[in-house]
Amino acid sequence: VSTSIGIALFPDDCDDAQLLLLRADVALQHAKSSGGNDYHFYTRELEIRSRERQTLEGALRRALAADEFVVHYQPLIDLRTEKIFGVEALVRWNHPERGLIPPSEFIPQAEELGLVGAISEWVLDRATSQHRSWRESGIDGVRLAVNISVDQLRQRDLPLKVSRALNAAGMAPGQLELEITESGILRDYRRCIRTLDDLKSLGVRISLDDFGTGQASLNYLRSFPADTVKLDRSYVSQIGASESDTAIATAILALAESLHMDMIAEGVETSAQLRFLADRRCHRVQGFLFSGALPEPAIRAHLHDGAAALIGGAREISVAGGPD
Ligand code: C2E
Ligand code: CA
Ligand code: CA
Repeated sequence: VSTSIGIALFPDDCDDAQLLLLRADVALQHAKSSGGNDYHFYTRELEIRSRERQTLEGALRRALAADEFVVHYQPLIDLRTEKIFGVEALVRWNHPERGLIPPSEFIPQAEELGLVGAISEWVLDRATSQHRSWRESGIDGVRLAVNISVDQLRQRDLPLKVSRALNAAGMAPGQLELEITESGILRDYRRCIRTLDDLKSLGVRISLDDFGTGQASLNYLRSFPADTVKLDRSYVSQIGASESDTAIATAILALAESLHMDMIAEGVETSAQLRFLADRRCHRVQGFLFSGALPEPAIRAHLHDGAAALIGGAREISVAGGPD
């Protein structure tokens, strides 16, 4: 048993009994949401933040009900075949007044509010049914990567939901890859690992996202059932610029290779980075050098025409060392 306590003081915070209790509650909510087993004093700032959270919570729930989210797809590129071998589904919020809002502005908040699971489930359903529509139009063999939050991994019925989505879309499990952040798994390793094992036995692939940003990488990589490692953007962006980051990137790539894991480098923006990666036998990349996440009609067009417009020249750059 752990205890969270919220404290409001009479008469400093308020001289009305009922309001005083409400303010103690605001402080309690803060103590709980910042990890629990702690106490917190009421402040005016907390109350403003708590109101903002309530507003956002209402807006996110409405957005789910009103179908305001959209999924964009970023190509995952294989340098050896010069083809798009997969896509990563990335959610955006198409806000009626503010326009397209990037996930960095609502996913962390949705996580705090316990709503990220509902959003990610929606994305899973939408993306798998999109995959079906691609297959129906003759686009085959494209891997679909979908991001999964730790909240979802803690729920024991996630494998059931995934298998339902696969069935509904008539999709081969091996074509779906679930991306899980390394730091997320570390927060609740034992519970996550059981769900991950169940997911693996369904036949779906597991990818370690943002790899290198957690803390216990090497230690648990031995027992972790991952198929793919995604080298975090922060290392890729420092290639050539920071000696230590370059060394770590090299070590991670070598490690993934020797453990026979698939490697994908994230956030590739320059041809110098591309060359460095190809030199270390990392042939699968994702980044603005080729393309950011695209809305459905645009990604479909690239999947149809083999993406020559995106990838043309990549092999020359990565093999021969073209201009930056
Ligand atoms: P992530 O999973 O690491 O996704 C990759 C992010 O890097 C995407 O940002 C992508 O647009 C961006 N990116 C790709 N290439 C480059 C590059 O060359 N340079 C730079 N600077 N950035 C690049 P985005 O779409 O804003 O997504 C941010 C994060 O939001 C994702 O990071 C993921 O953690 C989360 N997210 C997105 N969609 C979902 C979802 O459906 N469910 C969950 N749980 N999380 C999601
Ligand atoms: Ca990801
Ligand atoms: Ca990532």
